[in-house]
Amino acid sequence: MAKIDPWGSNAVSDYDHVFKEFGLSKFPESMKKQLKHHFFERNIVVAHRDFEKVLERIKKKKKFINITGIASSGPYHLGHKADLDLFVFFKKCGAKNYFCVCDLDAYCSRPKIKTVAEAKEIAVQNVADALALGLSEKDIYVQSNREKEYYSFAFEIGKKITAKTFEAIYGHLDLGKVSANLLQYADILHGQLPEYSGKMPSITGIGLDQDSHARATRDVAKRLGYNLEMPSFIYFKFQSGLKQGSKMSSSEPDTAIFLNDCKADVVKKVGSCFTGGCPTAKEQRRLGGKPEICKKYEIDLFHLESAAKLKDIFEKCKSGKRLCGECKKLTIDYMDKFLKEHQAKAKKNLPKAKKIVYG
Ligand code: SF4
Repeated sequence: MAKIDPWGSNAVSDYDHVFKEFGLSKFPESMKKQLKHHFFERNIVVAHRDFEKVLERIKKKKKFINITGIASSGPYHLGHKADLDLFVFFKKCGAKNYFCVCDLDAYCSRPKIKTVAEAKEIAVQNVADALALGLSEKDIYVQSNREKEYYSFAFEIGKKITAKTFEAIYGHLDLGKVSANLLQYADILHGQLPEYSGKMPSITGIGLDQDSHARATRDVAKRLGYNLEMPSFIYFKFQSGLKQGSKMSSSEPDTAIFLNDCKADVVKKVGSCFTGGCPTAKEQRRLGGKPEICKKYEIDLFHLESAAKLKDIFEKCKSGKRLCGECKKLTIDYMDKFLKEHQAKAKKNLPKAKKIVYG
């Protein structure tokens, strides 16, 4: 059976197996062509559930709900930036936006977060980062500050899920994670309540290993008695960690580039990441490298917007015209420039972020 654990740290590698096992639809070429973002063009978005109706809304310039959330359990890294980049893309497509800063989820589901106050403190920098990446104040809410309608709704959801169902989906009954999940289902669905945007299609971008949440949310949506539109999901490949065979993880700092990293961190992390280069320069000039397995190239694939520059990196690697040292320097340079600009914007947004988190 494919391993698909929302709290695990392994990257999902057997995509076809996962599609088959959970009934996901592969993201078709015809849809990719209609969506102008490099995540679609570069096969980073791989599958969907019911995306057709969201695409229809985009084409007809009709509203749809854009909802995603990130647990405030640590500083954001490039993997979180990828989530937010996709969110900003749908925002630009004319969505009604709901970005959830999941402080209660972080406290309930992550043992390292000892108090809700700690999760809120982390949330301040997270919100400043989200604002710097293109979200505005009205796009963001913090779980612990949400209105009573949201909480009543989360309790209603709780009544519709039995312990047996929960155990069948997740394989355990950890009460912290149960609470976090009920909030997640409420996050995805509550935008359709009359007090918010009302009934309409919604889109949430998730990693393949989060599919159990998607299935549970869709299942409960049917049984709530609110006549909700079934929520749609698109699935993207997670950016993997900088070391061989891992996911970018806040708890393993060397696997990730964080949005608050300085140039020395970037030089160290990109400098020592796993590449597809050959053991010697002579061999690499002769045989070329393997960008397909290179973690440095993966950073480019997700975060270098210029298609021409990406193509050049790929071709010079394959042909052996460029060696890893020079190639890494290109990434270090544009990443350092991006991080410096981002950090300046995030710093400016800190007072606004504090207001969003603490009121
Ligand atoms: Fe990776 Fe660049 Fe080396 Fe190719 S040349 S393996 S893309 S670092």
